[in-house]
Amino acid sequence: MREAFRLFPDVKIVILTHLYGTPAKADAIRSICKAHDALLIEDAAESLGAIYKGKQTGNIGDYGVISFNGNKIITGSNGGMLLVNDEYSANKARKWSTQSREAAPWYQHEEIGYNYRISNVVAGVVRGQWKYLKIHIEEKKRIYKRYKKGLEDLPIQMNPWDVENSSPNFWLSCMTINKEAMCETQRSECGATYRSERGKSCPTEILDALKNFHAEGRPIWKPMHLQPIYRNNSFITKNGSGRGCSSMYQHNSSEDIGADIFERGLCLPSDNKMTEEQQKIIIEIIHRCFQ
Ligand SMILES: *Cc1c(COP(=O)(O)O)cnc(C)c1O
Repeated sequence: MREAFRLFPDVKIVILTHLYGTPAKADAIRSICKAHDALLIEDAAESLGAIYKGKQTGNIGDYGVISFNGNKIITGSNGGMLLVNDEYSANKARKWSTQSREAAPWYQHEEIGYNYRISNVVAGVVRGQWKYLKIHIEEKKRIYKRYKKGLEDLPIQMNPWDVENSSPNFWLSCMTINKEAMCETQRSECGATYRSERGKSCPTEILDALKNFHAEGRPIWKPMHLQPIYRNNSFITKNGSGRGCSSMYQHNSSEDIGADIFERGLCLPSDNKMTEEQQKIIIEIIHRCFQ
């Protein structure tokens, strides 16, 4: 981030994402934002109920967003929530999200507006779900712990977190395969192939195996700087090198942490309706991939 601000000193807004319900290192990020007079917006779409240093995610930055999309820890089928710290911002967001209507007897527009409100029906569903948030987090945590225990003999890591300072909501259980245990695999833009090897596996092999059991896993979210729509823009990797634009796109996963996690990682089936019995079978299937 420091390197990014060196390259782009005029940046006014930083968005951080608490991925998979695991709180990001928000204090470190916020202090860099402060030093450069930039606002911090938290994408807490996945992390409702997760806690970082005693604060719920979405409450740490200047603004926060929560999603009630169908796949989140509680849902209204869609919709979401913007969290603000002051009345002025709340009123501004309410106005913009309801077509920017002015206080006039007719539809009076002095600025561009949007249709971003959620319906009363969706809001009602969210309120009905609200009381299940704690229960869902407990269920998700149990799922995570069963995976961690069930897969501990394999050359994999479960998604880690800053144990001292945060408690995730465990929305999705994820794993990465250790480098030395990756079988040969190739990814193109929209597909992947692999060669099965004894003692090794790769995300695609595991996802294929799960699919045969009608269980849905996913690759790790593909990082933004690898997305065709963005990858020609500059981006910063571990060693602080800005890439893109002038230089041709080059994938070097040894210094690109996001790319490396994408290559070796997958999201495991994490629905809280999954039974213990079903999860045992999933754990067994993953073991078979490494045989
Ligand atoms: C789901 C999700 C979104 C999108 O939320 P919508 O309510 O579908 O717009 C944004 N960011 C992250 C990290 C998400 O997981």
